[in-house]
Amino acid sequence: MTKIGIVGCAGRMGRMLVAEVLDADGLVLAGGTERPGGEAIGRDLGGLVGRGPLDLTVGDDAKALFAASDVVIDFTAPAAVAQHAGLAAESGTAYVVGTTGLAADQEDVLRRAATRTAVVWAPNMSVGVNLLFSLVEQVAGRLDADAFDIEILEMHHRNKVDAPSGTALGLGQAAARGRGVALEDVWQKTRDGITGARKSGDIGFATLRGGDVVGDHTVVFAGLGERIEITHKAASRQIFAQGAIRAARWVAGREPGLYSMKDVLGLA
Ligand code: NAD
Repeated sequence: MTKIGIVGCAGRMGRMLVAEVLDADGLVLAGGTERPGGEAIGRDLGGLVGRGPLDLTVGDDAKALFAASDVVIDFTAPAAVAQHAGLAAESGTAYVVGTTGLAADQEDVLRRAATRTAVVWAPNMSVGVNLLFSLVEQVAGRLDADAFDIEILEMHHRNKVDAPSGTALGLGQAAARGRGVALEDVWQKTRDGITGARKSGDIGFATLRGGDVVGDHTVVFAGLGERIEITHKAASRQIFAQGAIRAARWVAGREPGLYSMKDVLGLA
């Protein structure tokens, strides 16, 4: 049995992950933590997800959870990832990270941890979006940058705190890879006021927020007289939780390294 710990277990994704682990064959829930002072601390983990009591309560000792787990899954917040990555490196526990919005220094902590333990890091854990990454790279590589403008549109629920979404940036990276450029050299993450005409080769982003939208992404390749649009719509967070569980099964016992969902899904 592979022991799975869930940090941020009372969050939208955290609760779904706890339930998925409880339902999975070959996995056992090692425990769950919340941020110190979090209101769920002390609650029974089973009760938290609408199941019977488990004799496991929500804790705040992440170090103990990493020590007790074979794999820890993290859908929390960027500052928490920097802390948890250090614990994963120290304990050698495999680590699956879905948290988005990491700053460059937080990404560096994660990369360093991956030299000491196995880490799967993916801005989107769904099978469909990871196929979309491959498709977008392929299409961007085929279309002339002077003839087709790439714009990425995303919409998420009203509580999302980072923008553009990690998935939108991942799609931008895939498009940039296809074109053989660095995304940071061509991205237009916002537009406002008199921006001037669009620069050829730029990759633009547009962000919508509202309601309970789980996650919609469209990549537009706009030419003169024709347009290709590739869209993915997530109807339930369960696809991300199931992807994270798949990643946890795959990464358990692996050599240290930084892996993506492409590796997990065999698309690399
Ligand atoms: P949420 O706010 O509902 O949940 C986050 C939880 O983490 C909260 O309960 C919070 O208290 C907890 N937390 C914060 N700091 C912590 C700490 N130091 N220790 C333990 N727990 C801590 O958010 P959500 O909708 O579940 O999303 C969480 C993250 O996952 C976001 O970054 C989101 O963009 C990302 N996400 C990724 C994917 C993917 O497929 N990769 C899918 C959905 C969401």
